[in-house]
Amino acid sequence: MQAGVRQMASHGLGANGIRLTMESALTARDRVGVQDFVLLENFTSEAAFIENLRKRFKENLIYTYIGSVLVSVNPYKELEIYTKQNMERYRGVSFYEVSPHLYAIADNSYRSLRTERKDQCILISGESGAGKTEATKKILQYYAVTCPASQQVETVKDRLLQSNPVLEAFGNAKTLRNDNSSRFGKYMDVQFDYRGAPVGGHILNYLLEKSRVVHQNHGERNFHIFYQLLEGGEEDLLRRLGLEKNPQQYHYLVKGHCARVSSINDKNEWKIMRRALSVISFNDSEVEDLLSIVASVLHLGNVQFAADEQGNAQVTTENQIKYLARLLAVDGSVLRDALIHKKIIAKGEELVSPLNLEQAAYARDALAKAIYGRTFSWLVNKVNKSLAYKASWRSTTVLGLLDIYGFEVFQHNSFEQFCINYCNEKLQQLFIELTLKSEQEEYESEGIAWEPVQYFNNKIICDLVEEKFKGIISILDEECLRPGDATDMTFLEKLEETVKNHPHFLTHKLADQKTRKSLGREEFRLSHYAGDVTYSVAGFLDKNNDLLFRNLKETMCNSENPIINQCFDRTELTDKKRPETAATQFKNSLSKLMEILMSKEPSYIRCMKPNDAKQADRFDEVLIRHQVKYLGLMENLRVRRAGFAYRRKYEVFLQRYKSLCPETWPTWDGRPYDGVAVLVKHLGYKPEEYKMGRTKIFIRFPKTLFATEDALEVR
Ligand code: ADP
Ligand code: MG
Repeated sequence: MQAGVRQMASHGLGANGIRLTMESALTARDRVGVQDFVLLENFTSEAAFIENLRKRFKENLIYTYIGSVLVSVNPYKELEIYTKQNMERYRGVSFYEVSPHLYAIADNSYRSLRTERKDQCILISGESGAGKTEATKKILQYYAVTCPASQQVETVKDRLLQSNPVLEAFGNAKTLRNDNSSRFGKYMDVQFDYRGAPVGGHILNYLLEKSRVVHQNHGERNFHIFYQLLEGGEEDLLRRLGLEKNPQQYHYLVKGHCARVSSINDKNEWKIMRRALSVISFNDSEVEDLLSIVASVLHLGNVQFAADEQGNAQVTTENQIKYLARLLAVDGSVLRDALIHKKIIAKGEELVSPLNLEQAAYARDALAKAIYGRTFSWLVNKVNKSLAYKASWRSTTVLGLLDIYGFEVFQHNSFEQFCINYCNEKLQQLFIELTLKSEQEEYESEGIAWEPVQYFNNKIICDLVEEKFKGIISILDEECLRPGDATDMTFLEKLEETVKNHPHFLTHKLADQKTRKSLGREEFRLSHYAGDVTYSVAGFLDKNNDLLFRNLKETMCNSENPIINQCFDRTELTDKKRPETAATQFKNSLSKLMEILMSKEPSYIRCMKPNDAKQADRFDEVLIRHQVKYLGLMENLRVRRAGFAYRRKYEVFLQRYKSLCPETWPTWDGRPYDGVAVLVKHLGYKPEEYKMGRTKIFIRFPKTLFATEDALEVR
């Protein structure tokens, strides 16, 4: 036997019925590993898994399959694999002789959509910097290039692509992990007409990290748009907005001490963003209104207070109030008053009380966050209007792309990580259910006995978070509603009382002597499917309440800036019902997302980053191991490999291996089923090594198949 062993073939088995068949006669198994993890001999070994990834990464082979799941490792360098020619290579071909690629996933989904007329979705996950957003963009580009075109379709394609620079300007920021980190979750539907041309789209956004508007950690920046505006904005524009070019002038831009980043060209990005605004049909006055809001956030950040003799806050920066009044189109003195007073309506009576310094700063920041957060939602809405398919009564099929934050574990984990990790629990649940279901269905349709797979069902953790009355979110909401002395600590105590016996929940008080040391008194720990995370309750109530003082709300409702006016609706003031808390809103939007995804055939892309330094050609094993764990890849492989490593249609199997048996060579006249039966008997397959289904042969171990492949090679 020789080294030139062929890359083995495997059937990816997706819920979408994709058959990802891969064969590449060019590559050596030893050097570049297997292109499908199901072909790993030792499939339960994490070391073998990582070794395979490493081998491939070294050869710039960043894509590998687990069945139909695509695993991707960020190369941090431009690879020549996204060319038009390469797109054509993947277009409409069956998967023989093509190496793993996200174009294969994109093309398969698209073909299922076309041939079965079934809605599709591609779920992209991974931690920050792993390449999710790049993958989403590359898939969109693939469709833009390969789908049928017409004049009208060109406009839609353009808008689909151009919505990105706009949403990234407002929703992305430089963080320690990623110079262009998306600070919101995004689900995007692309609608296709009967010809398979993209004719419309719709975006849903999740949980924008609003706190970044007023604070950034060291080495991080605020959202790109602020720097783009200062760096790229024309002199005239900046003068109208009352802005100076220098970001150091603005309190909201100096918290992270890094206004400039070598990898980011704000001036250039500004031009791209401005052009994109026109493509998604912003007119000049809308652009001005939007940028006025951006500028107003910067001015707000520079509003300062001093205490009078009574300790009450007074505004000391009149100039800022002047600009704010103009940009937000509100009455300056009303705004000034609203920033330093608090208004409560009790028993139909208005009570106004002054704020102290700390409270005033808090109110100012809350207003900045509210203005920015709502403007972002407005922007998504506006993009959606420009993407809306006008002839919506015509039947369309839909392909969804989910680019959402992965599992997060930091030194310090707070409300945001709690929400993000809860989201990942939900997605994992969906994944388990759908993967198992599709496996089971294939076995059934092939008439092969289903062999139950042992796996960890994380529903228990989802329930712990979201259950009515007893779940963590319920208890948090209850504390937020409770008048009087509710604090983050009373929330923690309530939690301890209610869920103390839950196997996935732990606090300092509930822990045994040994583990207690690892938990602070203000922390709780959840055992997620991906591992333990310890959350600090500090700020939970505040972030969940997400309150804006009433008089600030009123002031905004009276704004004559058309965007602000749409963002702050009067009904909010009269509505007796309390607005939904942040966690409950998130829970509800997640539950809607699950419904959307459930109704579609899913494909998966799991993204990983090879190192924390954003460098090419560096494979940090420790970091990769964490991600393999957080993404649940070993479990994924175990489920996928539980029964059989390989399955293949009889015709295809026979065609490939018929030369190995005198009775099937050169032609077999009978049914392919019988031909394969003769063939494998001749090859000496043992009964425990394979099963004959209705249309396919199922082979249990990779080694059986490798031996057959090697025989082909030697012959
Ligand atoms: P995520 O959305 O997962 O946080 P991004 O998609 O923004 O991560 O990727 C972070 C950075 O990594 C990108 O800005 C780019 O420089 C690099 N990158 C990601 N995917 C690729 C790729 N396929 N090829 C080259 N560089 C990539
Ligand atoms: Mg991203």
